[in-house]
Amino acid sequence: MSILNAAHFHDEAAAITKLESIVWPEGPVCPHCGHHGETYVIKGARSKPSKKHPEGVERHGLRTCKECRKQFTVKVGTVFESSHIPVHKWWQAVHLLCSSKKGISAHQLHRTLQITYKSAWFMAHRIREAMREGGLAPMGGNGGVVEIDETYHGPKEGAVKGRGGFGHKRVILTLVNRQGSARSFHVDKSNTANVLPIVKENLSNEAVAVTDESRIYDRLGEHAARHLTVNHARGEYVSQDRDAWIAGDIHTNTVEGYFSIFKRGMRGVYQHCSEKHLHRYLAEFDFRYSARSALGVEDEARASKAIKGIKGKRLTYRQSSDQEQVENN
Ligand SMILES: [Zn+2]
Repeated sequence: MSILNAAHFHDEAAAITKLESIVWPEGPVCPHCGHHGETYVIKGARSKPSKKHPEGVERHGLRTCKECRKQFTVKVGTVFESSHIPVHKWWQAVHLLCSSKKGISAHQLHRTLQITYKSAWFMAHRIREAMREGGLAPMGGNGGVVEIDETYHGPKEGAVKGRGGFGHKRVILTLVNRQGSARSFHVDKSNTANVLPIVKENLSNEAVAVTDESRIYDRLGEHAARHLTVNHARGEYVSQDRDAWIAGDIHTNTVEGYFSIFKRGMRGVYQHCSEKHLHRYLAEFDFRYSARSALGVEDEARASKAIKGIKGKRLTYRQSSDQEQVENN
């Protein structure tokens, strides 16, 4: 038995049941009136006949609310709403995206799931949206160690390559809690005005922040319990923390490790990514990193975690694409 034998990967009724158990852990909630609890399950309902399906297809998971008498399925109000892709294929796509450390291309999804490339591309972006976590508490409460660094990835759109320097490159800012999660941002420029407000918003004032000696972070000590630095310019990559603010050494190797996974994925798997979609790819890499197996989260639990994020994030065609952008990745 492989994990891919599980019923929810090929049986639509099982796929819906599993989806319901995650989206509605305490039973069905009517999206029309908010009624929680009893519903009538509608058996044998079929969709309207189409050319491809002259008999219509069976509509699994259709319910009627006992309160307002309106019909709904668990897909209403999620990123799966209005998708014609069966839920068992969504489970396959979520599993593949969650279990591949460097991601999976839309071309690969298109071939494996036997759906059009365009459908695969939109599925992947909807799943990234589900992975995106918003409104999170600041990182590093209780003296947690948070490493902060920026990296450059890919050319800015419309920028002309200068004579050296990174002015034409996209800037990514990442905060990594040594105990676990990562949070990344696409920033316009690598300077104090762009970087510091984001760091302040996402860093607990109880955190111990570790950065390199970039001037951007000069005033970081005002926003954290302690600000420790390593001097990369002097060839120093690890230094001792004599005051014992942190258990280990002073270094930014953890955040650099995150960047290396991100870059290998972006180069090896995704190859092209337009600037306006970069934040979604960052959400994907943050998600997998923050729920990695080293933290005790295995593939199946990671997929369930992504599925939890589908609620309240209905992504419409226009939002994800402006219609014209089916990219080559
Ligand atoms: Zn209702």
